[in-house]
Amino acid sequence: MEHPLRVDELVPSEAPRPVEVEVPASAPSPSAAAALTPLPPLPTLAASDVLYLKPSDAQYANYLPAANRRMQLSPALRAVCKTEHAVAVLVDWVRTNGLRFAVRCGGHSYEGFSQSSDVVIDLRGLAGISVDKAAGTVTVGAGASLFHIYEALAAQGLALQAGSCPTVGISGHILGGGHGLLARSHGLTCDSLRQLTIVDAQARTLQADATREPDLFWACRGGGGGSFGIATQFVMNVFPLANTLVFGVSWTLSQSDAARMFAAWQAWAPHAPSTITSIMKVGPAGTGKISMRCIGQSVGSEAELRANLQPLLQLDAPSRPLTVQTLAFLDAVKHFAGTLAYESVFMKAKSDYVLSPLGADAIHAMLAAVAALPAGAIALLCDAYGGKIADVAADATAFPRRAGTQFCIQYYTSWQHAADTPTHLANVATVYAATRPYMPGASYVNYCDLDLPDFANAYWGQNLARLIAVKKAYDPDNLFHHAQSVPVGP
Ligand SMILES: Cc1cc2nc3c(=O)[nH]c(=O)nc-3n(C[C@H](O)[C@H](O)[C@H](O)COP(=O)(O)OP(=O)(O)OC[C@H]3O[C@@H](n4cnc5c(N)ncnc54)[C@H](O)[C@@H]3O)c2cc1C
Repeated sequence: MEHPLRVDELVPSEAPRPVEVEVPASAPSPSAAAALTPLPPLPTLAASDVLYLKPSDAQYANYLPAANRRMQLSPALRAVCKTEHAVAVLVDWVRTNGLRFAVRCGGHSYEGFSQSSDVVIDLRGLAGISVDKAAGTVTVGAGASLFHIYEALAAQGLALQAGSCPTVGISGHILGGGHGLLARSHGLTCDSLRQLTIVDAQARTLQADATREPDLFWACRGGGGGSFGIATQFVMNVFPLANTLVFGVSWTLSQSDAARMFAAWQAWAPHAPSTITSIMKVGPAGTGKISMRCIGQSVGSEAELRANLQPLLQLDAPSRPLTVQTLAFLDAVKHFAGTLAYESVFMKAKSDYVLSPLGADAIHAMLAAVAALPAGAIALLCDAYGGKIADVAADATAFPRRAGTQFCIQYYTSWQHAADTPTHLANVATVYAATRPYMPGASYVNYCDLDLPDFANAYWGQNLARLIAVKKAYDPDNLFHHAQSVPVGP
């Protein structure tokens, strides 16, 4: 099994492993800081509507873990909603009482936008999944995780295009876009959205689709989570898919050979047949060299895939040979899932959209910065765009990076011990600084990054003005907000 975010895939076996520093058990962790806010009386709701969890409750800790341990907070109240009614009552309660709150689905926000020390309205009790094979749709509660959706679909020979991490929640993912290994063949996850149910700032339950609340529907396909209301249900288009091809091949290369390989991947991946979605992972090999691993998935023929990979294979001898496997859809999901368990690690990510091919100077600057770091210090995950992603007009949904977008670079690092945080943050910052002169300043909202000086333009570009207008129409008092939510004004 391999996960695109696993940095250790890029550590050659002969390279020194990163040293792990143990933190004493008594060291404070970010999750230890419990909130002190006194809460007003809780709304009266049946146990079938909500599970209220306070720090003294036995089950409280089970619901705490966030994907990024660095951002995890312990709320004074977690309200795990089991019904849409509970969500509406809680929205009314936090608004009337002026309480600070966050909205949580899968808890994978890199910057902890689903965390609060006060109140968390948690969707995980609303995780029902119902497949309508004849209609070609799946209806899911807004607390469902990607793997559970994949599992329900695969049981009926169906599939959905979405990310590879099994525990990512559908809500944050689809609201922000959603790129996965079927993206070039089937589009982004938000492109599958047919209808959503959402509780707005006035605690009204709205149905949004192409004809009802069309502006809200538009904004909820790329505008990101936590800005317009609390989604309670999504109806998505799905498609038949029995088997797919998964592939992977690795190289350990000098910087100049790595530059040639990267240029070859960049010239191919965004323009390859739309059947093929690939990710090029780039990291330091620990010896001044570069580790590269190209992984991906294809819904086309094996002959087509092999012929397409041939130019890369001919450029340099792989350090790990090409593997191509035909797997049932759910096995392909498991292949790229790494693990099905909820993983909680310290992490930091930043991102860039590459909107025109990188020149030799940009590739050189990027690889030189990577090569200078120890093995395992960072992975640059380059997700190919184009294909079906580009078939949707840039203003047809709030997700703006469509035709012309080459790939998205995610600068990613994760670690196990709090004491290593400064080193890892510095490593990411160094590589990111090296590529600044060459990047257009466009980032992916689902790889949120608190360091961005102008996050709104970086995430939404030409769609920002319309997003602000939708925000003003549906949430003029900015009830739903976090550090990088859609602003009410420019
Ligand atoms: C390990 C890992 C792997 C990832 N892999 C991929 C990938 O392959 N492809 C990709 O595109 N992205 C990927 N991501 C990014 C992921 O898509 C985003 O972090 C996404 O926003 C997570 O959604 P969530 O529901 O799990 O997160 P949460 O932290 O619960 O929510 C994210 C945001 O949405 C808001 N929100 C949550 N639920 C609702 C709701 N019901 N209504 C309104 N707002 C809501 C939250 O307040 C928060 O602002 C990955 C992230 C991680 C940590």
